[in-house]
Amino acid sequence: MDKRVIEKLVSIVGKEWVVTDPRAIERYLYDEAPEPIRPQPMRDVVVVKPGSTEEVAGVLKLANEEKIPVFPRGGGTGLVGGAVPTAPGIVLSLERMDRVVIHREDMVAEAEAGVTLAKLTEEAEKAGLFFPPHPGDEGAFVGGLIATNAGGARAVRTGVMRNYVLGLEVVLPTGVVARIGGKTIKNNLLTNVMHLFVGCEGLLGVITKAFLRLYPKPRASATMVVPFDDRLSAIRAAYDIMMSGTIPMLLEYVELSAIERSEKHLGLQWPTHEGFAHLMISFAEHSEDAMYLALETVNSIAEKYTKHEPVLATRRDEQSEILRIRSEIYTALKKDMVDILDVTLPLSKIYEFMERVDALEEEYKTWIPAYGHVGDGNLHLHIMKNEGWSAERYNELREKVYSIAVELGGSITGEHGIGAARSKYLEKYADRGHLELLKLLKKSLDPNNILNPGRVPV
Ligand SMILES: Cc1cc2nc3c(=O)[nH]c(=O)nc-3n(C[C@H](O)[C@H](O)[C@H](O)COP(=O)(O)OP(=O)(O)OC[C@H]3O[C@@H](n4cnc5c(N)ncnc54)[C@H](O)[C@@H]3O)c2cc1C
Repeated sequence: MDKRVIEKLVSIVGKEWVVTDPRAIERYLYDEAPEPIRPQPMRDVVVVKPGSTEEVAGVLKLANEEKIPVFPRGGGTGLVGGAVPTAPGIVLSLERMDRVVIHREDMVAEAEAGVTLAKLTEEAEKAGLFFPPHPGDEGAFVGGLIATNAGGARAVRTGVMRNYVLGLEVVLPTGVVARIGGKTIKNNLLTNVMHLFVGCEGLLGVITKAFLRLYPKPRASATMVVPFDDRLSAIRAAYDIMMSGTIPMLLEYVELSAIERSEKHLGLQWPTHEGFAHLMISFAEHSEDAMYLALETVNSIAEKYTKHEPVLATRRDEQSEILRIRSEIYTALKKDMVDILDVTLPLSKIYEFMERVDALEEEYKTWIPAYGHVGDGNLHLHIMKNEGWSAERYNELREKVYSIAVELGGSITGEHGIGAARSKYLEKYADRGHLELLKLLKKSLDPNNILNPGRVPV
């Protein structure tokens, strides 16, 4: 990068926070996307670490004037190469902006973009409060969680990140700072454009601070694992649970074949090996009575579909172990996989979708582990490595899975987003008008296309 620009960056954030050494830059070139789908990173970048909103604004103003691409970066836990720099420019790491204040009386967290999910959860708990969303990697930053509108297993009951954002501070690509909303639950001053930035994947602005809604900490929790002999019974039971109005904190569908891989990887034991498919159901309630009532409702629904006894865990460590085995299916399979998909389906189509994926397994003679958040119709599927397959064959299979999801009324992504790895699917799977609207927004907010360029057509 031009020496003159580097000097200007140094004058904005300080010498220590402009990184030009290739060895120090290396860890900013990747995220957690599986290696086979990782976009090729651009090494000709400088990493800039602002310490305040004003510094972020200064960096963006300069980049806009000089037409330099900027790649905002959170915890780098994304799974689609969203934070990977793909053109010469600036990696804007928010890691130094990690202050969080819990406004206990308002039940609100005021968190800078660089606060990790682990820190936010811990600080809320110290104040006797609870931040419900829990996407799988606690190293994710508040800014990244909002920019990807992250979900996670608890979304079935408590919603996705969007449902928690009360206020945002965003720096627009021109360097203008916009503060929208704040600590209040309601705010109807002007058109609410705040949510444009939730899930925008760093295309429209850089999030520097957020006001996030907190809830009282639940007092009683339990996790139940229910085995079923077949997939249809498990999915019907999950559907009846949703319709009963007793919505669990977690309602996960898994098949034993995938669970066994995670058990082996972790050296831990899943509580039952009966049946073929399992539902993992967790409750977090405000009294023991409420929890046992919920468990009873769920148990009586499950009984209609299975002869197997459910296994109940009430101790915190037992529950954590079950959750860990479920959460680490991804890690257990990672070395043998090409991609992790996160399609969504309307609740009524989950079974049909999975059966059609089974037919693809037959056709392609491969294993496509499918599991996930059955309560909100968000499934994870893995495209596994196969001897002798070309990149085209993997892509053909991936596109067939996507096409089935879209044909059934779902979407190609419910959690991970588009990033740099999935841009190529936009023209095919996104609505034309939706894409057009995004192009218009991008052009008006980011006229020089400096933020995450190349991710969406402009
Ligand atoms: C083991 C594992 C489990 C996971 N489980 C889940 C899950 O359950 N649910 C789920 O939704 N995701 C999950 N993820 C994916 C990932 O954790 C989320 O996408 C997370 O929200 C990314 O946050 P991050 O801070 O790491 O963002 P990064 O990866 O750094 O960036 C992601 C995107 O956000 C943009 N961005 C980052 N910070 C900002 C900012 N301040 N302003 C504007 N744009 C910004 C980046 O440019 C990029 O496009 C998982 C990942 C792993 C590795």
